[in-house]
Amino acid sequence: MPAVPMRGWLPGSPASHRIPPMKPLSKPLHYRRRPTREVAIGDVSVGGHHPIRVQSMTTPATHDVGATVEQIGRLVAAGCEIVRVTVPSTRDAEALPEIRRRLASSGLRVPLVADIHFSPSAAMMAVEHVEKVRINPGNYADTKRFKVWEYTDAEYQAELERLEQRFRPLVLRAKERGVALRIGTNHGSLSDRILNRYGDTPLGMVESALEFVRICERHGHRKLILSMKSSNPMVMIQAYRLLADRMAVERMDYPFHLGVTEAGDGEDGRLKSAIGIGSLLEDGIGDTIRVSLTEDPVAEIPVAQALVRKYNAWGREQPASPAQGSPEAFPPILSSYSRRGSARIELGGLALGGQEPVRVECLLRAPLGDAASLKAELDLLSSMPATPDVRVEILEVDLSRAEEIPLLENLGKEMRAARSRPAFSARASSQLLAELAEPELRGLARSCDRLTIRLDSLQPKAGETLERILHRLGAEGPSPAIEFFIGSDPENACSRAAELARLCDSGTGRFPLLSLTVEPGLSPVGPYRHLARSRAEKSFPAPLLLVAETARREEDPLLFASVYLGSLLCDGLGDAVRVEHFGSPADSLRLAFNILQGTRLRLFKTEFISCPSCGRTQFDLEETTRRIKTRTAHLKGVKIAIMGCIVNGPGEMADADFGYVGWGPGKVSLFVGKELVEKDIPYAEADERLVRLIREHGRWDEPASLPTPAPVPAGKTRE
Ligand code: SF4
Repeated sequence: MPAVPMRGWLPGSPASHRIPPMKPLSKPLHYRRRPTREVAIGDVSVGGHHPIRVQSMTTPATHDVGATVEQIGRLVAAGCEIVRVTVPSTRDAEALPEIRRRLASSGLRVPLVADIHFSPSAAMMAVEHVEKVRINPGNYADTKRFKVWEYTDAEYQAELERLEQRFRPLVLRAKERGVALRIGTNHGSLSDRILNRYGDTPLGMVESALEFVRICERHGHRKLILSMKSSNPMVMIQAYRLLADRMAVERMDYPFHLGVTEAGDGEDGRLKSAIGIGSLLEDGIGDTIRVSLTEDPVAEIPVAQALVRKYNAWGREQPASPAQGSPEAFPPILSSYSRRGSARIELGGLALGGQEPVRVECLLRAPLGDAASLKAELDLLSSMPATPDVRVEILEVDLSRAEEIPLLENLGKEMRAARSRPAFSARASSQLLAELAEPELRGLARSCDRLTIRLDSLQPKAGETLERILHRLGAEGPSPAIEFFIGSDPENACSRAAELARLCDSGTGRFPLLSLTVEPGLSPVGPYRHLARSRAEKSFPAPLLLVAETARREEDPLLFASVYLGSLLCDGLGDAVRVEHFGSPADSLRLAFNILQGTRLRLFKTEFISCPSCGRTQFDLEETTRRIKTRTAHLKGVKIAIMGCIVNGPGEMADADFGYVGWGPGKVSLFVGKELVEKDIPYAEADERLVRLIREHGRWDEPASLPTPAPVPAGKTRE
């Protein structure tokens, strides 16, 4: 069977597609929003000193005026500040004045954005009735794909001139009417010209937008907003960072609209958006956001609000410490994925660091003295058979009193006796460990695969305490781990943590596993980057354990665990991850794996890419996605796209292995990669044909228990 080609711009891309590291945008522990110009979208301004705006897009066909107005009303009531409507044709553009009139008569004032693909004539009509027009530079003036493989410089220039001729009328009219333009690049729908010259890369995405920006600037229109969306958060993060860097070099200050396309639904859709959007917000990038979910768009609003709340409360700057470090202390922000080098270590037979997969650690919540709760947590963890890959790789327990040592030793024995067991780690404060007699300390160390020393990096004599513990553990002890608590002075604490980590390296002759704990309200992203840089500089590549502590935080736990871990993982940092206190340990474990899947660093289940649906959608997207998930959710590592329409579906599904695309009323077409392989299949037969196609390409595994295929409902397709 032919293998499905791996597509897209993923870890391991050719060196020719990589960009050198860029200058940092912020100081390590100091939040600063990228300075941008103010762009007014009707009554709502984006960029400048304005808060990060929340927006969404309607899903009915825009020519269905009643349904569109009804949904806009619900979006505005939920807090949506800007509403986009799809305008695929002049018929939809003709509906805009009536939508406007009905909104006004209901007292609804909200800026409207017309979303245009392929149709300059629809754009020229829409610009008369909306506050912003969004165009996709990949398809505004280009309809052919891969007709020409190489462009000479003269051909390339001729293409740009053709593009300008097509785009200029819209620019001039938008300028005249004060209408803003969004140059909205999508990773999956780059033009032939861009693909052939730059490849399917973040650099291609940036160049694609800049071609259009330059035309706008030549005609004096600067009410512009830019976006660089992708269904792969890592690609999207890199594209926006690269764009920010290019803007700075070219002295441009246009605001950015952030979004992850085709994120899907439920928890996966939310965490994928949080990884992509939140990582950039952490870097101070982003002026307006849309969370795209394959759900009722009203459900997008609370998620978007939860993501921007913290940054809007901070304003444009937020010094996290009185002593601000120099920008040079910040590791360069990467515009391509490259995993930070670290030493490979072994913990009870588990290899970690180096080129090993990012491991998942789980912390038990129950105290050692509470045997019943401890057993309940362990039972829950071992009965998590969602997939054989979701299992605890490192299990950590807290030791709070010396009297608990015998309990811990018993647990360690039980762990060792088990056939398939995780690495076992005990964690205790440095004070407790320092007070233990040497035989007691060594006995404790022997009962586990790793001993974690919790240390407040600012405590007086922290170095001496650590040295004493390491000395008494001796060279025979297990691989130590050291967890530094970063107090209210993170800048200072980070430097101290780096010094103490060095002491730990040299004191044991082995590489410890390092992790940081930050106070609630502080982001761990800056401190981890700071620590990673200091280790790299000193050539002590100790592996890093990334910890997202979700208790005692005001932020949404699911979203911000995803932001913090996702941001660092996409930067190539982290050899293991742990989510703490997100429900039960089993819930925390599942979330940690889902975040790894969201970054695509470990694919342990099917990756679904489904569009949010809009007025072009040819079938009930939510229900179709649910049905296909039921059939295929056990296919580890297979990427399946479910896209509502032919207009953008094939382009925007970017790096999917298989695509299921609405091809017209009641019709679906199937893709392998970007190749159309089955066309015009009746909707009722499409699920079965998709499964057959996956089988034919050798990507099908039989599920442990066979799900009953859900009947495809009649009459669900859009007319
Ligand atoms: S792919 Fe989905 S969201 Fe995109 S235009 Fe088509 S139906 Fe609309």
